Amino acid sequence: MAQLTFTHSTMKSGKSLDLLKTDHAYRERGYKTLLFTSEVDTRYLEEGSFEEQLKGKITTRIGLEAEAWLIERVDICRLAREERPDCILVDEAQFLSEEMILHLTELVDHEDIPVICYGLKNDFKGELFPGSKALLIYADTLKEIETVCEYCTNKASMNLRLVDGHPVFSGEQIVMGDNEYKPVCRKCYRNMKQELEQSEGK
Ligand SMILES: [Zn+2]
Repeated sequence: MAQLTFTHSTMKSGKSLDLLKTDHAYRERGYKTLLFTSEVDTRYLEEGSFEEQLKGKITTRIGLEAEAWLIERVDICRLAREERPDCILVDEAQFLSEEMILHLTELVDHEDIPVICYGLKNDFKGELFPGSKALLIYADTLKEIETVCEYCTNKASMNLRLVDGHPVFSGEQIVMGDNEYKPVCRKCYRNMKQELEQSEGK
């Protein structure tokens, strides 16, 4: 029986690379895959033909990349029924709505297609993303890609947002532009948050 898997981690943990490795392993054995990513934080929108606007890219820090359908812009159920993939791989799954996650569970349950979603679990405020919340509820299997804190040797579990090099703990969950993020451990995250609160006299 097919499964829905949620592979989660912090920023800079190599999620997209892991996705492309999995994709490669399927294709090497002659299996067919379908790749999806989210239009959120896609910076090259509204250019190109209608067909091109339905696609984005999964990119990695080491330069590997692959074309992927923008999941918000296509009918994923119809596409899957037409293409009959052996596996569906979804990047940036934290940005998906609960409704989209439920569509994915239908493909797993009714079409017997395994779906592997990759994404962040929590945002820079330590709150779940909508897609991550739904995946924690509905996924059959949870996996974690571990990475180390940027400031010590603990396991990173939080995402720190930096604006002009300074950590921030309030603001919108998703902002377009060039905010920097660092994977940090719970302890360093708490220390930096308390330091900021003390300096602001809270
Ligand atoms: Zn740390």
